[in-house]
Amino acid sequence: ENTANKIAAGEVVERPASIVKELAENSLDAGSRNIEIEIAEGGIPFIRVTDDGSGMSREDAKLSVLRHATSKIYEVDDLECISSLGFRGEALPSIAAVSKFSLTTRLHGEELGTYLEIQGGTISDLREGAGQVGTTITIQDLFFNTPARRKFLKTPATEASQIHQVVTKLALSHPDVSFKLINNQKLVLHTPGTNKLRDTLTSLYGTQIAPDLIEIDYADTNISISGMIGKPTLLKGSRQWQTYIVNLRVINSRFIAKAIDNAYHSLLPKTGFPLAVLQITVPLDSVDVNVHPQKSDVKFRDEQQVFRAVYKAVTTTLVNPQQ
Ligand code: ADP
Ligand code: MG
Repeated sequence: ENTANKIAAGEVVERPASIVKELAENSLDAGSRNIEIEIAEGGIPFIRVTDDGSGMSREDAKLSVLRHATSKIYEVDDLECISSLGFRGEALPSIAAVSKFSLTTRLHGEELGTYLEIQGGTISDLREGAGQVGTTITIQDLFFNTPARRKFLKTPATEASQIHQVVTKLALSHPDVSFKLINNQKLVLHTPGTNKLRDTLTSLYGTQIAPDLIEIDYADTNISISGMIGKPTLLKGSRQWQTYIVNLRVINSRFIAKAIDNAYHSLLPKTGFPLAVLQITVPLDSVDVNVHPQKSDVKFRDEQQVFRAVYKAVTTTLVNPQQ
């Protein structure tokens, strides 16, 4: 069992940023309004994610660290229509297999919660705990028992910047949730959770970008695209200001990147990469999210349709900008 968890950890837990992504996605799935992520030294010695979501009962807390004990999928058919960010039940056991793991959780309306600790993959401590409503998960000494993996980690500064990117994108995918990131005791990111993407963007990238943002609002049969793109005056040397979101999930996609490029280049010279936050909504069963251990690549039933929609949404917005 613990070997299986360690193997799965190799796929799910590549680096501290993958842990932050999994934990924060769990917080989102639990309906949190506020998610606070605290790290030290790039997350290698310390990551803590605190949320104000549903919390867990003692039984659920014990189950949560067991492999494939997801509470989000009940039947195989549900895999065709996944609306939660998590669905494999792999993240917590995988993370707990390669770190020193502890969890505090309390349900709304209960006086006492649960404290649980895992060492080397087994529960080493389980007791009642006070604690706030919601869940706090603390990860210490990542890869302490898998030294070969530890060697592949980059410098704390590089790992911290990967975490910063992950949190930035998650915050853009959920403008209705307030995210905080604290690195070495310094608050480095704080989104307001006002449910206005414009507010989230300016809190992340600076108020000076506000005049350069154009709203996207596009709808066609079975696909809609909303979000913001940057005016052509606001270009970057990389795609770091691009976030693609499908049904509230942050994804990687080369072809969406290509569709944005083509749209800008059909109207403008090639000089850099625009800001783009695209919130794409398609029917749940027209996208397969179960193709990658980290759930960041997805497969569309009709990729061409999505390509054309992105291209059209961006070009029409650029030609006729609404602010
Ligand atoms: P998955 O997200 O795929 O279900 P995880 O290993 O990430 O699997 O989490 C296991 C289970 O633990 C979840 O299904 C959920 O029931 C519970 N859980 C994890 N994190 C939280 C949280 N922050 N708040 C409430 N429940 C949580
Ligand atoms: Mg999960």
